[in-house]
Amino acid sequence: MEASKLGHFKQLLLAELPSHARHVSEEQAAALDAASDDAKESADLAMRDVTEEIALKLGDRESQMVADTDQALLRIEEGSYGLCARCGRPIDERRLEAMPTARYDAECQAAIEEAKGMKARPTL
Ligand SMILES: [Zn+2]
Repeated sequence: MEASKLGHFKQLLLAELPSHARHVSEEQAAALDAASDDAKESADLAMRDVTEEIALKLGDRESQMVADTDQALLRIEEGSYGLCARCGRPIDERRLEAMPTARYDAECQAAIEEAKGMKARPTL
């Protein structure tokens, strides 16, 4: 991929990173606050555990997005960005515009999801 295009996608990725990271901490803090308030009101400690578990799961999902972004930035540094990690063909740039963290082209993504037993979703 041309350096100017790599720079463009790097900007896209960096623009997304802080909002995701901020979202993680705010979401977790809010959920954990709510959990500790409930625990004060109620002697039901099991309820607090469940709420904390939900908070941590929400955090996991957001953390995964941050990790995906980190990995995409690493691939830019390594020079493998924009190439499908499965077949090595260039990923469609319209797909990368919509999903800058994409590791696979549409064809391989569909094949992977099918292999996982997921229903293939329409992709770009
Ligand atoms: Zn592929």
